Order: sequence, then C-alpha cells, then structure tokens
Amino acid sequence: MSRRLSLQDDVRYVKGVGPRRAKMLGSLGVRTVQALLDFFPFRIDDFSRVQKLKDLEPGERVTIAGRVTSVAVIPSIRGRALRVGVSDGTGTCYLVWYNMLYLSKQFYRGQQIVASGKVEWRRRSWEIAHPRWEETGELSGQGLVVPIYHTTAGLNSSMISRFVREALDTYAHLIEESIPDGIARRQGLLSQKQAYVNIHCPPDAQMWEQARRTLAFREVFFLQFALLLMKSQNERAKPVEPYAKFDLPEAFIETLPFDLTKAQQRTIQQIRDDLCSGRTMNRLLQGDVGSGKTVVAVWSLLAAVANGYQGALLAPTEVLSRQHLKTVEEFTHGMARVGFLSGSQSAQDKRLTLKQLAEGSIDILVGTHAMLEPDVEWTRLGMVVTDEQHRFGVRQRLRISYDSNAPHMLVMSATPIPRSLAITLFGDLDLSVIDELPHGRKQVLTRVLEERLRHLAYERVKKELAMGHHAYVVCPLIRQGKSGRRSVEEVFEELKTGHLRDVEVGLAHGDMPREELAKAMQGFVEGKTQVLVATTVIEVGVDVENATCIVIEGAESFGLATLHQLRGRVGRGPKQSYCFMIFSGESGESSTRLKALENLHDGFSVAELDLRQRGPGQFFGLKQHGVSEINIQDLGVSEDIVYSARQEAKALVEEVEQREQLPLELSPLLSKVNTRFGNLLKHARSR
Ligand code: ADP
Ligand code: MG
Repeated sequence: MSRRLSLQDDVRYVKGVGPRRAKMLGSLGVRTVQALLDFFPFRIDDFSRVQKLKDLEPGERVTIAGRVTSVAVIPSIRGRALRVGVSDGTGTCYLVWYNMLYLSKQFYRGQQIVASGKVEWRRRSWEIAHPRWEETGELSGQGLVVPIYHTTAGLNSSMISRFVREALDTYAHLIEESIPDGIARRQGLLSQKQAYVNIHCPPDAQMWEQARRTLAFREVFFLQFALLLMKSQNERAKPVEPYAKFDLPEAFIETLPFDLTKAQQRTIQQIRDDLCSGRTMNRLLQGDVGSGKTVVAVWSLLAAVANGYQGALLAPTEVLSRQHLKTVEEFTHGMARVGFLSGSQSAQDKRLTLKQLAEGSIDILVGTHAMLEPDVEWTRLGMVVTDEQHRFGVRQRLRISYDSNAPHMLVMSATPIPRSLAITLFGDLDLSVIDELPHGRKQVLTRVLEERLRHLAYERVKKELAMGHHAYVVCPLIRQGKSGRRSVEEVFEELKTGHLRDVEVGLAHGDMPREELAKAMQGFVEGKTQVLVATTVIEVGVDVENATCIVIEGAESFGLATLHQLRGRVGRGPKQSYCFMIFSGESGESSTRLKALENLHDGFSVAELDLRQRGPGQFFGLKQHGVSEINIQDLGVSEDIVYSARQEAKALVEEVEQREQLPLELSPLLSKVNTRFGNLLKHARSR
C-alpha cells in the first residue's frame, strides 16, 4: 500500500467509488480526485436549527429531525398524496406531497431524516407540505448543514457528498496554497485547504460562504493575473508601427451593396483609432447574430493588408471557416489574395498553402486553429481576427495571442455578456458593441408550442420546404436517456417516418466523428439536405440564408440566451422566418419563461433576462468560456469579488513589472498559472 497519492489520481480509487460509479462521475466531468474536490455543491440546506416537535407553532417555517415511522398513500382533494410520518420522541409530524407518489421509494421506516418547511396543524397532527428534506443517517456527527450537488442518473447528492468526504480524508494534505500570503490576508481568505474542507463540509452557513468566496476569488484572481500580465507584456514588447494607409478598406466599403449601420461605422472608427495609435489593438467586438460583424472583420484584415501585413481570420470549426472563406472571397473579390488552411485539408493542399504563406503570396488566411501550429510560417502577420470567440475560451485566446505573435487582435463574439462577466473574461480587452441590426431585417416569428401542437410547427416546415426553403430541427440530447428529454436520434427517426418522409434529412451532433459532422453541416450549407436535425452544434455562426425555419424540440432544456442564439440561425436574409419552441411536460413555469422570447428579439435584452432568471453562474455556462477547469458557476462569483481580484492582480502585475524580474516568492503562483494556461506566461516572459 505504498502507492504515492496524487490529486491527479483517477477518481475510481477514492474509497466507495470504484469503476462503475467512476463512470457516472465521468458524466459529470469528474475524472480525477482534483476534479472531485472541485465539484462544488451549488447550494446548502441548513438544518442546523432543529426544533422539537412538541415546541412547534402553526404557520412557522421550521426544521425538524427524526425517524420515519410510516409511509402511506392517502386520497386527498388534490389527487393522491404521499404521507410520511416522522417522529422525534416528542411528537409526530407528517410530510405530505401531492401527486408525487414516485417519491415514496425514497423513504423507509426507521430512516433518519431532517426536513424543513412551513408547518400546519391539520387532521389533528402536524403537517409540512412539500418540505425540503435530507437523509441524515450517514451524516451524524457532521453537523446538519447539508451540501447539495448536481447529480446524474445513479448518483444522488448524498452519495457524491460521501465520496468527496472520503477524498478529503485521504487527499486534503496535498492541497497547496497558491495565493500570495499578503493578498490572502488583505482579502480575508481562508487557506486553500480550509476552503476545500468548508465548502464541502460546512459547519455553518457562514463558513460555507467564506469558503466559496475564497475559491471564487482565487479563480478570478488567477485569470485576471494571467490576462493582465499578458497584456502588459504585449504592450512592453516593441512598439508597433502605426497604420497609415486605409485606401484598400475604404474601397471595400464603397463596393458594398448596402450602407453601413451607424454601429458598424462607429466600430470601424474605433478600430482605425487603435491601428493608428502605435499601440497593440486588443479589442472585443460584441454584436448580436446578424448584426454584420463580418464586414468589420474584413475591413480590419484589409487595413492590415494595405499596410503591408498579412491578416488571419480564425473560426472555431471547419464549417464556419469554410463559410468565412466564401464570404471573404466574395467581399474582397480580387482586392487581396485569400488562402485557406484547416486540419482536415489534404496534405497536398496544406503544403501549397503553407508555401504561399511563407512566400508572402497570401494576404489573408482564413481557417481553423490549424493555422496556429508551429509549422505555419508567416511573412508578416499583423492582424488576427477570431470569430465566435466564446467557443475558443479565454485560454485559447491567450494562446492565439501568444502563438500568432501578431500585434493586433480583434475578437468577435455574438454572445452579449453582462458587464461583471465581461470584465472577468475579457478584462484585457477594449470593447466595441454593434447594437443595431441592418436596415429592413425582418423579425423571426417566434411561437412557443405545447407538445400536442407540434404538428403546427412541422406543417410550417413543410410549407417552407415546398417553397424551396430549408429548416433546422434542434434537440437538447444526442440519444435518449432517462431524463425523458428529446433526443436527436429519436426525433430524426420520428421525422423520417412521419412528417418529413419525402425529404432529405441530415443529422448532426457532437458524437459523430469530426469529418462526418463537417460533411453533414456542409451538406446542409450546400443544400443537399433540406432539413438538418442537430444538437446545439449548429448554435454558432452557421449562416444558411435559405434556411427560414427552426424547430427547437425540448425547448425547456435550454437557457434563453441559447434559444436566442439558435433562433439567430434563421432570418438571415430578407425572407420571413419562423422559430418554433416546443416544450414537453406540463410545467407552466417553463412555458411562461419561453414565451418571453415571442416578443423579445434583441440579444442584449435576452441576455439580461436570462441573467435575471438564472443568475450569473448559469449564464452561458462559464465553463464553456474556458474560464477554468472548475465549476466556477457554482461559486456564485459576485461583482465585488471580480473587482477586488482584479485590483489585487493589477497590483501584482505592476510589482512584477517594476522588479523587471519575477520575485522569488511568486514562483509557486506562476507555476500554478502556467499549468492552467499551458505555460503561456513562461513563454511570454522569454519572448
Ligand atoms: P454576424 O454579426 O452574425 O456575423 P454577418 O456579418 O454574417 O452577421 O451579417 C449578416 C448578414 O447581413 C450578411 O449577409 C451581411 O452581408 C449582411 N449585412 C451586414 N451589414 C449590413 C448592412 N449594413 N446592411 C445590410 N446588410 C448587411
Ligand atoms: Mg458571424
């Protein structure tokens, strides 16, 4: 038993886990011990103030604890009810659930539980309707503050809690301090180890909050430190030559068949100022889907070309980059030499592109991140534009900025991001916003439908197809699970044998091999398939002007911002387009939530509503942004944390700069940042 322990150990080795449950944990993204420790409870139930049953008063909110004495199903005016008796030796209280009989399986006589809710005196005994409750048998001695974790089929919250406790018992001594002492003291942070222990096994609500704050602070601090250090190093790198020539991009604007919107003009002016300033441009361009960001991208690339540089346009997927290639070629028609590079190109094509690039006979290279590989040689790369950046994530952005070694960066995002989050994610970038759609754009007609009215949606789809238009069908899942949510495979089969019998239907989801997925998307883009049944892989940027209809199955599973993004896949041309959101289940709440989108068409308003409904953590899933490997969304990052973490990071970066050399006491911090950000900082330093 002398195996050396490491936080990187496979989670299956944690006592009680084993291979089968390790697989279930894997579906929650937890594969290592570290990941298990970083799997934070998103809520706690505080049962620490338990009242005796003899002391209850009707109408009070109370917490009680005791043993289950009976489990019964009784008739009631509201249908059948589950009635669970709990006794603590001073009296009995009944927990009652209406129409949720399936819960009965979770109770047995003699079971030790706590429950809280509003207590009433009914049927000559105490009763709490629809209480919160927890089994406490195994938690005895641990206090009554119960952490609640996200769960998956086969794993409930208390099992996860048990695994985490085991992991802490065995591994906690390996948790290292990472934030400099002075900062920890000033900010009143717990030690790293204390923070982990208290977030998972809080003695009381206050300690839990402090642990969360510590962990959230650390995450935001790391990110800010990395971003700001990169920025400062970029700025201190040799000054860039100001751009002087804009004839080419101006000529490009002249050739457009439309006038720029005011917002586009303003954005271009901001970029122009950056390029003339002699400093590096680091700009984030936010604009709703269809707001015309591509024009701004092409303008910027041509500005680089006019001043003797090469430009790069980087997209996160094969399909998007091919689409951009087409657009850039059409837009520039001969003003610049455009090349293409992607991972799935033939070796021969690739070699040719690389050769032309190195010779300087390509002005603008469009492609995927394949263009950032070390074997790609540029003659004079001056500008990198990345599209739909939220797919790349912060880490990739830093990587691009480092690897490409280009002075100017323009990052485009169709995701409107609330301010506090924008600072966290893009603290090093200046911001431009296109808050206006091109003239004459029709709103997408949006309808929220109950499942039984599904046929209405598909009747519209058939009408559109008859007019030669195309349609998307989007589902939340790839294949059917226990959740009962709609899956791509199920819907695909249904449609092939039902509504869309006579139509070419394509299938696209993230489990397909990459080439197959690219082929499916390409087939739809080229019009070979008329309907594409897909998961949210189509969410970002795909532009098929002929697609006029999108049906979203299981719409209740998506956040509003995602639904809005999906809706943006249609209505990209002058034709009237339609979006149907079909929700399953009876939930009146989700239908109200979705119905808001019928009248809301502006991405920033949708984002704000989404933020209000789901809180900043859930917003677009920070994880997706690549902020961090850990579940930062469960830490409830607040504006105050972002602000103080940023201040501290700024001060530290200044200190690093002044000393010209990294202070010794910072080396653990830097190595931590480096492991997270792929050695970017070390590279940046030696640059
Ligand atoms: P996104 O911001 O989603 O990337 P695009 O750049 O793809 O949007 O633009 C969407 C469509 O609108 C394109 O077909 C584009 O040519 C067109 N477009 C862009 N700017 C304007 C404008 N000022 N007036 C009219 N159409 C425009
Ligand atoms: Mg776009």
